[in-house]
Amino acid sequence: MDTSERIIGIFEGSSPGPLLIAVGAVHGNEPAGVLAIEAFLEMVKVQAVSPELCFKGNFIGVVGNLAAYRANRRFFNHDLNRKWSVPLIEEMVSYSNGEENALQGEEKEMYVLIRLMLEAVALYKPSEVIILDLHTTSASGGVFSIPIESDQGSVALASLLPAPVVLGLTSRFTGTLLQGISEVLSRYSLHPCPVRGLAFESGQHLEEAAVQRSIIALSVVARAVGCMNLVEVVELQEANFSAVLPRLVRIFYKHSIDPGTNFSMFPGYVNFQYIEKGEQLALGSHGVVCSPSSGYLLMPLYQTQGSDGFFLAEEVDRFD
Ligand SMILES: [Zn+2]
Repeated sequence: MDTSERIIGIFEGSSPGPLLIAVGAVHGNEPAGVLAIEAFLEMVKVQAVSPELCFKGNFIGVVGNLAAYRANRRFFNHDLNRKWSVPLIEEMVSYSNGEENALQGEEKEMYVLIRLMLEAVALYKPSEVIILDLHTTSASGGVFSIPIESDQGSVALASLLPAPVVLGLTSRFTGTLLQGISEVLSRYSLHPCPVRGLAFESGQHLEEAAVQRSIIALSVVARAVGCMNLVEVVELQEANFSAVLPRLVRIFYKHSIDPGTNFSMFPGYVNFQYIEKGEQLALGSHGVVCSPSSGYLLMPLYQTQGSDGFFLAEEVDRFD
């Protein structure tokens, strides 16, 4: 398996510790995560010459959907962040005698990622695995994190980032990369260890600040999990990305789009905009789409590919 182009870079620490895996461009039209991983690796290499920085454990940065990233498309046949079903994972893990050679498109991407993750964990035998899945959104104002909700360690890690934590998505998205890799490593790894993970949405697709925010997220997570004791690598003056936003919200509504039907969000909506019940938000296949209730708007769809029109969230004050 040739992973040379998929792997953005590897940094091997001087002592044992966690394995931090950062994934960029699981959606191929979201380059900010890849750029941030490249910059983070450069910073870590520079800092590594400093005696105060002792990088514990190992870091790997990978491209999620390599073919789509090269083509600057969100995906080809399937959204790679909805593809990780348990039966498909079971099937892929059991492949032998080159069965994987018949795979196409996103299934091939998924297979390579599974092998890569399992091999990395077997090689480094980490104390724990932390997955940081870097994304951006088509609308502006979308800076937030989505932890693996069933894992308190992941939620705690997300709460350290200077951005709102969004709960309630895990149950509405099936087959995400985070859920899938967590499943793969907990069931099939030769070196069982805890797995924590979160997705970080760093802003609008081509916004320059989205790269900077992703670098900050990488640095905060690397420090929090004990990889680095010194993170002077980034200017943290912008670190409070969203001071006026709620710290914690829970999704309570998703507007799904049926495949092949039209959906056109009315212009001007941004993430975390507060919407009143009945507000006209979009044009769908059955006419104007009105908001079913009041709440914070999240991920309004302003791109042609995608099956979720928008989400509504409410503020909550507890992490349970
Ligand atoms: Zn994405």
